[in-house]
Amino acid sequence: MRTGMGVKASLKLAMAWGLLRSGALSLHRTGFERGRAIILFYHRINDAADPFFPATPARRFTEQVEYLARRYRIEPLDSVLVWLKEGAPGPPRLAITIDDGYRDTHDIVLPELERIGTPATLFLSTAPPETGRPLWTDRLRNVFKHAREPVVELPALGLTLALSSEEARLASLSVVMPLLKRSPPARIAAVLGELEGRLGCGAAPPTALDWDQVRRLARHVFSLGAHTHNHYMLSHLDDAEIAYEIETSVRLIRERAGAAVTSFAYPNGEAADYDQRAIDVLRRLGVHSAVTARPGFACPGQDPHELRRISGNDPALAIFATRVAGLTPEMGRASR
Ligand SMILES: [Zn+2]
Repeated sequence: MRTGMGVKASLKLAMAWGLLRSGALSLHRTGFERGRAIILFYHRINDAADPFFPATPARRFTEQVEYLARRYRIEPLDSVLVWLKEGAPGPPRLAITIDDGYRDTHDIVLPELERIGTPATLFLSTAPPETGRPLWTDRLRNVFKHAREPVVELPALGLTLALSSEEARLASLSVVMPLLKRSPPARIAAVLGELEGRLGCGAAPPTALDWDQVRRLARHVFSLGAHTHNHYMLSHLDDAEIAYEIETSVRLIRERAGAAVTSFAYPNGEAADYDQRAIDVLRRLGVHSAVTARPGFACPGQDPHELRRISGNDPALAIFATRVAGLTPEMGRASR
């Protein structure tokens, strides 16, 4: 039994899924799904099953996109936004977005989307392709994945962290990651530097896209959007840092990949991770839309710089399908 879901709710979902799959339930023909867009988001998609680098399994991604392609009009994000501006007439539209810029977007996702014939948007953090270094979040994951000391003290955070088993290292990572996400860049750099100095950073193979791969994505089914340079949570930056992070990513995507940037994704994307200062910078740069990780549908009249998305991170296609259709309780609440 999934946590937080009673027997009754599970039965309802199972029934809804049966009806959806059989085609008996055409929600958009009944009007239920009309007048809103679905913007899906993913991060890593691969079969490594690495607990330090969680990913959507490739098979699950394919299963989801094949299902969606049969039921929805999947369009580039910009087309979906134009359709919303026009008042969202007719059947619902759907856009696929993938954040950060991992190699599996190129190696696994691109061939699958080309085979199915589906467009997508990549929201790229530009520091990894520009510098060859992983994002700070991935450096942190690497430290805890490869640490061989039994314990490490971090006076800067007032923490002593156990590292003696894989479980302990995962638990320690889950303590440090949220603390650093809420920290300014100088503190992130200091803590990461200390951890890498004391524990090593492991001989991890590169997992971020290089610019050749980004250009290949842009030549095929992908549009490119910006996702900052260094993937810091914008609300913890000062004004100059916010401007630098957004401007640098927009400029590098234009210069290195020849793509005009019209959309943006806030790192981490919860309501506390961005504020009006970021929206002001985006407006000034002519970036006319921005997506969050707040769950819900995109509807006409919503602020185009605070678009909601739906995570593709559901273990079962039935749950995913009912969530995308707005039939799960939390999506029912978030639908308007
Ligand atoms: Zn991200």
